[in-house]
Amino acid sequence: MLDQASATTADLWARAERAIPGGVNSATRRIGRPLVIERARGAHVWDADGRRFIDYHAAFGATLLGHADPVVGEAVARTLVDQDLVGMGVSRLEIECAELVNAMIPSADKTILTMSGTESTFQAIRLARGVTGRDLIVKFQGCFHGWHDAVSRNVISTPEKAYGMDPTSSGILAPNLEATLIAEFNDLASVQELFARHKDRIAAVILEPIPHNIGALLPDQAFLEGLRALTEEEGALLIFDEVITGFRHAPGGYQEICGVMPDLTTYGKAMGNGFPVAGMSGRADLMDQFSSAGGSVLLAGTFNGGPASTAAAIATLTHLRTTDFHQRVFALGDRLRAGLAAITEDLGIEACVTGYGSVVICYFMPMRPKGYRDLLEHHDDKAYAEFHRRMYDHDILMLPMSLKRNHITGAHTAEDVDQTIDAARVVLTEMAH
Ligand code: PLP
Repeated sequence: MLDQASATTADLWARAERAIPGGVNSATRRIGRPLVIERARGAHVWDADGRRFIDYHAAFGATLLGHADPVVGEAVARTLVDQDLVGMGVSRLEIECAELVNAMIPSADKTILTMSGTESTFQAIRLARGVTGRDLIVKFQGCFHGWHDAVSRNVISTPEKAYGMDPTSSGILAPNLEATLIAEFNDLASVQELFARHKDRIAAVILEPIPHNIGALLPDQAFLEGLRALTEEEGALLIFDEVITGFRHAPGGYQEICGVMPDLTTYGKAMGNGFPVAGMSGRADLMDQFSSAGGSVLLAGTFNGGPASTAAAIATLTHLRTTDFHQRVFALGDRLRAGLAAITEDLGIEACVTGYGSVVICYFMPMRPKGYRDLLEHHDDKAYAEFHRRMYDHDILMLPMSLKRNHITGAHTAEDVDQTIDAARVVLTEMAH
């Protein structure tokens, strides 16, 4: 039997390492020191030793409203009294959820529900290949779209491997990697060149409209508009991977902000405030190519649209749609950015404090990066990871790896942010000396 009450982090971590490869269930959760989570509520998490952290990791941004949000929890609990999973037909919840997403996301006519962002981008890419009959896709160096083979190239690359063949994993067949072409974010010419070189073979261009997997590269409006025009001209689909930006930056995702409409959009993370629910939307003529509507692109998944997760999504999306949520978290994001910028300026540290809304980034470089090349040439990865590592020592949970972003949630307060700024002053002062 597990003796939970008396176990310390050290005991539990030893057991985790014996029972689970590396002690964790996703590689980036291993942070170079033992961490066993006991409890998570609001903006805080507690480890097995009772230590309390202010959490800016927020489950890679999934817990957008804060941990254990009572409204979401109540919706899930209510649902579980009535149903678990039937797996035939459709539930009222699935209908309501799809209608909500279609109403919120400007380019969405129809929506499917999946279990993860990975499944959503997988489905979007397969649909794009299915409807165009083409084999290649274009992704950008630095963007992450999940762990399936079609997107397992060129996320965080070293200078030698950037733009070359840089698989994120072994075990992927070469043809799968070669079918994914790599371009430079904010550089339309790099995409035009690929279309010229691979005439009538590119099925889709997929991008994070703000590449948050490498911090926050802010897109040039002309770049996004250029991608829209180019893909249309070339008969390829434009896929916005809004797994991070979707719902977080606006009820209608980043497409609501930039006004550029993709053909397909993927979501995940914040959609169910930590419950495993994700989705994919698009134009009706494209979405109707799924086998559920008589098309040739297989739509399957035992747990798709599961009641508990779908109830969590409805509660989360309804909250985002009907409250001043974005205004509040954007203001806190600005407060944290202003605090960090003042410190780096006072200390003469070469830093670019940036981000978007509730996502906060402190790049250690003298200018704002426009593309991945700028990060390769100018960013101090060691300082970034060190900053996050030292913040942990001050009970601030930030993922201690370079380019990992920080998230403000609906549960953070101005006091949390001010405490974070105080800790950052101590840490950055130590780092500057
Ligand atoms: N797309 C983006 C932009 C992501 O950041 C992620 C995960 O970090 C994914 C897709 C994959 O989502 P999941 O981890 O839910 O499979």
